Amino acid sequence: MKSLIFKCTVCGNYTLESKCPKCGSSTISTIPPRFSPQDKYGKYRMKMLYGKE
Ligand SMILES: [Zn+2]
Repeated sequence: MKSLIFKCTVCGNYTLESKCPKCGSSTISTIPPRFSPQDKYGKYRMKMLYGKE
């Protein structure tokens, strides 16, 4: 699943728009807590680094 979620920097509203539909402020892209690319790639790197004989 590939969906970007944006969060309003002003009211904290989550949206898929680049601008907050509520207050019209600019939003920043955020990653849901369940998605943890850092951990995912971390594991992958660990495997690559230490999975070799
Ligand atoms: Zn807002």
